[in-house]
Amino acid sequence: MSVFDHKAYDNHEKVAFFHDAKSGLKAIIAVHNTNLGPALGGCRMWPYASSEEALTDVLRLSKGMSYKSAMANLQLGGGKSVIIGDPRKGKSDDMMLAMGDFVQSLGGKYITAEDSGIAVRDLQLMAQRCEYIAGTHAKFRYDGGAADGNPAPSTAYGVFVGLRASVRHALGSDLNGVSVAIQGLGHVGYRLAEHLYKEGAKLYVTDIYPDNLDKAVQEFGATVVSPDEIFALDVDVFAPCALGAIINDNSLSLLKAKVVAGAANNQLAEERHGQMLKEKGVLYAPDYVINAGGVIDIYHQKMDSSAEAMRKHIEGIGDTLLEIYQRADEQGLPTNLEANKMAEERFS
Ligand code: NAD
Repeated sequence: MSVFDHKAYDNHEKVAFFHDAKSGLKAIIAVHNTNLGPALGGCRMWPYASSEEALTDVLRLSKGMSYKSAMANLQLGGGKSVIIGDPRKGKSDDMMLAMGDFVQSLGGKYITAEDSGIAVRDLQLMAQRCEYIAGTHAKFRYDGGAADGNPAPSTAYGVFVGLRASVRHALGSDLNGVSVAIQGLGHVGYRLAEHLYKEGAKLYVTDIYPDNLDKAVQEFGATVVSPDEIFALDVDVFAPCALGAIINDNSLSLLKAKVVAGAANNQLAEERHGQMLKEKGVLYAPDYVINAGGVIDIYHQKMDSSAEAMRKHIEGIGDTLLEIYQRADEQGLPTNLEANKMAEERFS
């Protein structure tokens, strides 16, 4: 397995491998860029089929965090870590303690947090051995409500603010009467629906599980459609809040919305789909910009700041998107490429 020649290597500053024989921990930490500050990024535990697959994932995710943090105006760089193993069967307290040792050994160049397969309790174990752990204790919520450590409310609020700014830019209107199709009513999608309902938006929703759909019908007067129908609805906005790669050759030919703005990571199957959206006259809110509320939340918790400072910071997502749209218009570039360019200017 080659690291320097890996197709996702992209000038990473540091890639560290760690094995702890006692607990069986096998982990990789990737630090993409620390020009703006220490690299922050979650720790993911996943039963990767090979160490090659784990390396590809950690490199790709770590690079993405450099772009996300830069565009979220955080004094942070990009990094990520992965533990190779099944989080349901292969996890132990000793393993999490050993992961704490591993993160500590980088001396603060990398700060870890929650990602798939890793829970707050795991982070608290790591924190027994390491100073550089974020998300162990949530102290406040952006809206002054009781904090439970889940960043989804902040992510949903950021997506709402960004969606509202995108509608204003593309359609010249506020959200009253604007129709929005939400794909995925999970932690973020459901809360997004609530914000939009309060602003008078007309909601179409889908999920593969019925639980939240029924609630959305009762509480927000939403219309339920099947997962296959959601792309082709004649609505103003499509808000992907479920899966990645949902803007692809197939869905693009069906899409009627004028704005794509949602929480899902890696929405474009390939960067060229950003150009295709532009040619179709669809405004695309770059995913890592609009869904940065969660990382902003984690940052403010780690810095012991305040709910008010966190809320203002999240609201900045709207202004950042408007700057991207203006620059993209001036340069004739699709918004995904303009966002990448702006991020690179900031962290290079
Ligand atoms: P979640 O798992 O709580 O919700 C996702 C929902 O999508 C689930 O209800 C699931 O049933 C549904 N879904 C899955 N496949 C579907 C399909 N084919 N059609 C329709 N619905 C489908 O996840 P979440 O925390 O709400 O996150 C949503 C997205 O936002 C994910 O892509 C996540 O990576 C991204 N994101 C989340 C956060 C956060 O703070 N939670 C932060 C940044 C990005």
